[in-house]
Amino acid sequence: MNNLLYYFQTPKLRLYFEIAKIFCLNIILEYIFLKEQSLLLVVLYLETLKHNTMKTIEFMQLPYPMEALEPHIGKLTMEFHYGKHHKAYFDNLHRLIKGTEFENMTLEEIITKSNGAIFNNAAQVWNHNFYWNCLNPKSEKRPCGNLHSAIEKKFGNFEEFKRIFNLAAMELFGSGWVWLVKNSNEKLEILQTANAGNPICQDKTPLLVCDVWEHAYYLDKQNKRADYLEEFWKIVDWQKVSARY
Ligand code: MN
Repeated sequence: MNNLLYYFQTPKLRLYFEIAKIFCLNIILEYIFLKEQSLLLVVLYLETLKHNTMKTIEFMQLPYPMEALEPHIGKLTMEFHYGKHHKAYFDNLHRLIKGTEFENMTLEEIITKSNGAIFNNAAQVWNHNFYWNCLNPKSEKRPCGNLHSAIEKKFGNFEEFKRIFNLAAMELFGSGWVWLVKNSNEKLEILQTANAGNPICQDKTPLLVCDVWEHAYYLDKQNKRADYLEEFWKIVDWQKVSARY
C-alpha cells in the first residue's frame, strides 16, 4: 500500500492522473455546455492547476525565538542577521527569478543551475536556512552516534577537529562560510567557501556550517571572529548535525 502511495506521488504519474482528470472533465462539460464553453472551462482549470503546482520558496521561520541563543548570539544580531540580511537575500531572489526559468525551481535546483546575482542570493538563502538549523540553545556540546566515531577517525579527537575547523574559519579571508561536509566517498572534510559558495555545487553533503561573514558577529564581538567561534561551539545542534551524517 505504501509503495502504491509512493508511486502516485511521483511527478510522472501525477501528470498522467491530471491528464485523465482533465479528459473526464472535458467529457462531462461537453454534456452540460456547448463545446466552446467547455474548452474555455478546461483552459481555466489548467491555469488554476499551473498556479497551484508552482513551487514557491518560502522565507524560513527560525526554529527558536530571536533571543534564544543569548548570551552567545544576541537578540540584536539575530534581528539584523535573520530579519535584515537573510530576508534581503530572500527578497532579492524572488525579485530576480520572477518570470524566469528559475521561478518554479527548488532552491537546490536554482543553486546548481544558476550563476551571478541569482546564484549569490539563492545560495545565501540556502546557507542561512542551514546555518539557523545548525544552532540550538540546548546544545549537546558534542557530536553523537556515527558522526562522533567518524570525527575521531578522521581528526583523532573532537578537540582536534574543532581546532582545524577554527583555523579554517580564522584563515578565511573576507566573507564566507566554513563547513563540515561528507564527500562522495563518505569521508569527512572541512571546507571553506568564499562569499555565497555552497558545497552542494561540489557534490558534497553539508553537515555543519559556520557563517563567518562579519554581519554574523560584529554587533556582539565587533572584529573578534575568534570570540564568535568560541560562542558558536556552545550552541551547535549536534543532534541535527549528527543525523545528517
Ligand atoms: Mn550571514
